[in-house]
Amino acid sequence: MATVGGSADFECPICMGPVQRAVVSRCCRHRFCTNCIAAVQQTAGQGGASGRCPYCRSERFAFDSVREPPPQLPPQQPIRRPPPQASARIYRCQAAQCRFTGTENDFLDHLVNRHRRELLDNHHLLFRQQQPPQQYEDPPDRNPRLAENKKTYCGGPLNGPPCDCCSGVCGPQDGCNCVHCMTIDLANFQVTHGNSLVNKFGRVASLSSENGHFYCAAIMGLAELGGSGDSIAYCGPIDGPNCEACQALDVQCGSRYASLM
Ligand SMILES: [Zn+2]
Ligand SMILES: [Zn+2]
Ligand SMILES: [Zn+2]
Ligand SMILES: [Zn+2]
Ligand SMILES: [Zn+2]
Ligand SMILES: [Zn+2]
Ligand SMILES: [Zn+2]
Repeated sequence: MATVGGSADFECPICMGPVQRAVVSRCCRHRFCTNCIAAVQQTAGQGGASGRCPYCRSERFAFDSVREPPPQLPPQQPIRRPPPQASARIYRCQAAQCRFTGTENDFLDHLVNRHRRELLDNHHLLFRQQQPPQQYEDPPDRNPRLAENKKTYCGGPLNGPPCDCCSGVCGPQDGCNCVHCMTIDLANFQVTHGNSLVNKFGRVASLSSENGHFYCAAIMGLAELGGSGDSIAYCGPIDGPNCEACQALDVQCGSRYASLM
C-alpha cells in the first residue's frame, strides 16, 4: 500500500484517507473508518461483495471500535500547569455560610468564582501595613509607663482589630493603648464602673446608654468636633458629635476593650 510519511497504520484501505472514527479488524488488526466499514457492509447486505475483510480478505471479518487518541492542542495554546508552589494543604473557605474545602488551586478557583465581589472590594486589606497579630500576647519586655496624657503605654502590639488612628503599637504617638494598659488606666483614674474607659486624650469617657456613644465632657474647639467657626462645644450627648478620642472608643469598646465593658 502506498503511503506517505510512514503513516500506513492510520490510513484507511477503503477511502485511502486518514482514518476517521477508527474500527480495527480482528483478523489483521488493520484500521478502517467506521463509515467506510458501514458502507462496505451495507453493500454486502444488499448481495454485493461478500463480508470479507477489505484489507486481508479474511472471511471471518469482525471489528472492534477504537478509542480515538485525544485531540492535540493547537501548538500556540500553552499547557496549563499548577503553579510550582501549589501544596497539598486543604483550605477551608472562611466566608459566612460557605462550606467549601479544597486544595490550593481549587480554593483559588473557588475564591475567584464564588467570592469575586468580596475579593475585589477587600483586597486592600491583604496589604495593610503592620497588621497586629491575631492572638494578643504580652510582649516579653512589656514595661507599662505613664505618658504625658496620664495614660499607660507598654510599646507592645495593640490587641484586637486595627483602628483607623493607629500604627498598631501601644504607644503615646497614636494614643491608643492595649487592653492591659487600659486596665491600668482604669485603676489609675479610679474608674470602677463598667461603662467607662480612658480615651486617648487622657479623659474618662462614659458610654451613653441612650445613644451608644462615649462622651468625655472635654471642652473642644468646634472645628475639632467636625464643625466650623470659633465657638466651643463639649464632648457630650447634647452638643452634637463626640470628640475624636471618644469616637475611637465607640468602635474599640466592642473589640479591643470588650473584656473591660
Ligand atoms: Zn475510510
Ligand atoms: Zn483483515
Ligand atoms: Zn467560599
Ligand atoms: Zn491592589
Ligand atoms: Zn487607634
Ligand atoms: Zn499596652
Ligand atoms: Zn470625648
